[in-house]
Amino acid sequence: MISKETLKEWDKRYVWHPFTQMAEYVKYEPIVIERGEGCWLIDIDGKKYLDAVGSIWCNVHGHNVKELNDALCEQVNRIAHSTLLGLANVPSILLAKRLVEITPKGLNHVFYSDDGSTAMEVALKMAYQYWQLKGEKRRTKFIKLEEAYHGDTIGSVSIGGIDLFHSMFRELMFETFKVPAPHPYRFNGTVEECKEYSLNRLKEILEEHGEEVAAVVMEPLVQAAAGMIVHPEGFLKGVRELCDEFGVLLILDEVATGFGKTGKMFACEWEGVVPDIMAISKGLTAGYMPLAATLSTDEVYSAFWGGDYGSGKTFFHGHTFTGNQLGCSVALKNLELFEEKDWPESLRNKIDYLHKKLYEELSELKHVGDIRGRGFMVGIELVKNKETKESFSWKDDVGRRVSRRIVEKGVFTRPLGPVLVVMPPLAISKEEIDFMIRTYRDAIFEELER
Ligand SMILES: *Cc1c(COP(=O)(O)O)cnc(C)c1O
Repeated sequence: MISKETLKEWDKRYVWHPFTQMAEYVKYEPIVIERGEGCWLIDIDGKKYLDAVGSIWCNVHGHNVKELNDALCEQVNRIAHSTLLGLANVPSILLAKRLVEITPKGLNHVFYSDDGSTAMEVALKMAYQYWQLKGEKRRTKFIKLEEAYHGDTIGSVSIGGIDLFHSMFRELMFETFKVPAPHPYRFNGTVEECKEYSLNRLKEILEEHGEEVAAVVMEPLVQAAAGMIVHPEGFLKGVRELCDEFGVLLILDEVATGFGKTGKMFACEWEGVVPDIMAISKGLTAGYMPLAATLSTDEVYSAFWGGDYGSGKTFFHGHTFTGNQLGCSVALKNLELFEEKDWPESLRNKIDYLHKKLYEELSELKHVGDIRGRGFMVGIELVKNKETKESFSWKDDVGRRVSRRIVEKGVFTRPLGPVLVVMPPLAISKEEIDFMIRTYRDAIFEELER
């Protein structure tokens, strides 16, 4: 049996963690997770942490859920994986049908991949090739929102707009047109003006360059990695209308917002918008397995439909684990649980409770500038001066300092710059919500106000 100390030592020596400055990471004792129970993570020392970010926005029903475990076990006892290149498999067929049923009407074809980034790569290449096949060969450009995040592969980085993550790779990226993200808290004017400002900018770009544009790409309603920016109501609908007016495709990235996180199954349902292409991942398998899908309309799909292989209309894209049976079977069980629990409809009450508690416990704090969110996606922006909305200097490192204190107190979270994140599993209980928010409050108070 390898000792706990050795495990921690080997973690520091051999594991290169994502989005992590390793020289800093090794200064702290690693938290090594051994198992999970409901919404709790338990480390090798037996310490429990409430998973307030759903293991980075993907966990839905909690950890170690019997029904999901059983679905995986049943599948692994049949087969773990066979390829979708030339073969079909049972769970991927059943899941594709189910996804077409539960996603907005019109998305009728499911292309599988492995994670959010690959689902977005697929979306970009699909949109690009679509226009090539339609004979509109100039339509090669994408319009994105500033502060956008769509993953970390090069294509996804090209349509991303977070300087800290993306500017290093500028030379590797393709060019895009940028629309300011509508961010009411940081906009000088009303929410309505904020919406109009971004929509007008989009319209200007489309007027000037519309014929070169393949698609507009965005996260609907909430730009999560940007710091939980919540778009003004009607923005998404406005974007859809402009896309229709100028005849460009709309790609929605529902990787973070999908599967009930905003209080509806998919965020675009709030505004009755149907995209031409939609990417899903994170919550798809309830946070159990890496699996993703890119859905498309008949119009997009049919452009690739061509008599034979020699037609050149084949979509030349695929991954080794495309349509993996373990991922698909656990995703199917996830959707069954949604149905059994009548989610997300039956979550209204819990969502209201979460937001009421956040407001009651945190809004009076001196350094809490903004509490924003939809459903289970919440950002708490820490500011130096609440009246002027003056930000802390990045050197103050407030997000991480406060988050570290929250973790010490038994709640796992990870900030986005100065924004604390709350994005728990949908299964979180009211008692756990109470504990979570009280812990955030105590940590903010102790770190910044005492
Ligand atoms: C997490 C995320 C991605 C990337 O997904 P990975 O599985 O990390 O590749 C893409 N888009 C959005 C909106 C995300 O939140």
